[in-house]
Parts: sequence; C-alpha cells; structure tokens
Amino acid sequence: MSVLVWLVLVTAPRAPAPQAVLIATPRGETSVPVTTERGTAAVAAPRLGPPLGLTVALDGSRVTVGLSGVVFVFQLGAPFVRAGGVVYGLVGEPYVARDTVFLPLHWLADCVPRAVGGRYRWEPAPGGDTGRLVELPIASAVTATPPSTPSTAPVLPPSPASAPNPITGLRLRHGVVIDPGHGGVDPGNPGRYFPSGLVEKDITLAIGRLLRAELTRRAIVATLTRSTDTLIDLTDRGALCKAACDLFVSIHVNAMPDGRRADRVSGVETYFLSDAKTEDQQRVAQMENEAISFETGTSSAATGPLGFILRDLQVNEYLRESAQLAQLVQDSAARIHPGGDRGVQQAGFTVLTTARRPAILVETGFATNRTDGAFLASSLGQHKIASAIADGIVAYLLELERKRAVAAPARGR
Ligand SMILES: [Zn+2]
Repeated sequence: MSVLVWLVLVTAPRAPAPQAVLIATPRGETSVPVTTERGTAAVAAPRLGPPLGLTVALDGSRVTVGLSGVVFVFQLGAPFVRAGGVVYGLVGEPYVARDTVFLPLHWLADCVPRAVGGRYRWEPAPGGDTGRLVELPIASAVTATPPSTPSTAPVLPPSPASAPNPITGLRLRHGVVIDPGHGGVDPGNPGRYFPSGLVEKDITLAIGRLLRAELTRRAIVATLTRSTDTLIDLTDRGALCKAACDLFVSIHVNAMPDGRRADRVSGVETYFLSDAKTEDQQRVAQMENEAISFETGTSSAATGPLGFILRDLQVNEYLRESAQLAQLVQDSAARIHPGGDRGVQQAGFTVLTTARRPAILVETGFATNRTDGAFLASSLGQHKIASAIADGIVAYLLELERKRAVAAPARGR
C-alpha cells in the first residue's frame, strides 16, 4: 500500500464525540463528562460515585464495581463485564488513565439497565451518541414493569439505508469482534523462527490491533477480545460476538510438531467450524483448544444437554456463512502471503463454537518456518496480513448486504 493512500485513509472523518451523560436520580441531576480518548465513549468511574452511590475497586487488572447491590467485574483491556453469572459484551474496554478507572459508556447505557432490573432506565439523546441514565424511585420500579410490557428499553427505528461508504461500498453499519489468540499465562506456540522472546500471543495481539485499525479505517466497528497481554476464557471470546456483531475472527500462528520436515511447511490457512476432518486439522484444533487448561473453569457458556442443543442450532445456522467468510478471507490473505495458500479448512475449535455469528480462525503462517516466521514478526508482514484480512471481511459484508437487500427489497425509505 502506498504512503499516499495510507494518509488519505487515516484522515477519514469520524463521528462527532459525545460530550456528557446526565445522571438523573431522585436526589438531583448530575452531568458527567464523556471522553473518547481511546476511540470509544467512556466515563471516569469516580465521577459516577456521588450521584449513583457507585463503588470502584482496582485489583491488578480486575475492576470491581458495586451498584445498587449488583457487583460488576471488569477486566482492564477486555470488552465485557460479568454480573450475576452473566457475561455482557461491551462496546469499548475499561482502562486506567491518569490514575483513574474509565468505564465504557456502553456499560452505563445498555448493561446497567439490564443487569440491575427495573432500577435504571437509559434515555438516549436525539442523535443517539449520549443520553440520560434515570434512577427510578423504588416504588415505581416495582410497578414499572407490568406483565404486558416486556421491556422498558426504547425501541430504536431501523437505521435508514445510507449512501455507500466511499472506501468500501458498504451501506450499513457493521461490527466485527477480533480475537487475538492466547495471552497472559498462555503464550501459544513458542515461535521457533521469531526474534528472541516473541511468542504466538505477541504476534496475534499485534496483528489483531492492526486489523482493528484497518477495519476502523473502513468505517467498520471493530472490537478486540483482548487489547493487552491477558488471558480470556475461550468460551467467553466467542460469546462477545452478539447483537452488534456481524462476525468473529480469531487470529493465530501455526506450528508443526518437531520432525524431519517440520520447517518445510508454510503458508496461511483459514478455518471455519465443523468436526475436524483430517489428522492435520485435528492437530491444529487440539493445539488451539489447549488454552482451556490455563483457564479458571468459571466460564459462562451454556452447559448440559440443553446448552449443547442450543449451541448446535446456532452453529448450524452460521456454518454456511462461516464457510463463505473463510473463503473470502483466505483468498485475500493468500494473495499477499509469502508462504503460500493452504486453503480453507474445517475443524472443531472451542473458541468458534461459542460465537453467535459467522466465525473463522486464521492461522496466519507457521512459526516453525523461517520465511513465515520472519514475515509474521515484521511490521510490514503484520500490516499486510491485517489489511488482507480486512479486505476479505469487507468482501463478505458486501455479499451479506446484497443478500439482505434481495431478501427485503421493500424495506427502508
Ligand atoms: Zn494459536
């Protein structure tokens, strides 16, 4: 990609930033500033303390927030929060800046009204960027949800079809969850041909961040399952792709087991979900699923026979879509990869079975191959891979928009 094109894309216009959120309680109304310094709207947690009676505790990378008797547990750099055994996906991640914990505005607007039942209501401001969190008096909170009213949440009108984006040709808003494989105590594969000290988890995070930047530049809302060196439960990674997410992409680096020809194997391959078909596919699935042994066992995934059936239904629904997404991303990545095209593969990855949308896993090359290793460890190589995956995703989303338009030609104004 030329420098000129790069600069043009970087200066693509952004949406106007929200200024402040109003906290309205029976004790009065308080305005709390909203910052977008990290790309998504966030509020300083201490500013919410006095109006809401909110408590915040930071312990390592864990942030514990108490509100109206409900405990929310965040992890710095991770776009989700646990409350009462439920994991809620978030737009944005909690972070620390200037010795202050910042929480995503999305948590306040969407998660709090759902998690603290009947106690709060979110009223979006015209334009939808910010709004008012209203604390309901206890008495009316009880009567606010008669059986005939399933939800007090505002019903948003469908977004009108807009002019196509000049870069991508896409007309609708799209969201993508990017999952940089491994992290924290799980290093992934040791990276025989990476410079000393680098391991798979470092490469996947670097590519994941670049992919987020490439998608943002294409006006697609991109979220990382982790933006730091931390370990997220495999089952939580896929679950982060829900309502506002069109697809899920997990990024990994492959490795051959030790052997005579181990360093000869090279290239990029893209997996979508199914039962692993060949010995080689089973090897890759087993390797990537081993992260489970590092995890705490407190995951929120549905378990038992019913959970399995529900998961199976969702998986089948998205299988065909996932296969198409995999093919388009693979085609794009293979064009720029020095190690060659290993094609689309199928395997049973835990990280993919919990995604509620089309989901793929890209093995971006082999750390056991000298050329692939050098390519993946280089800034240029990481940029090329990230840009190619982003192009493949855009190709898939264009196809998705075309199919939706065919299915509902009369909708919209
Ligand atoms: Zn991996």
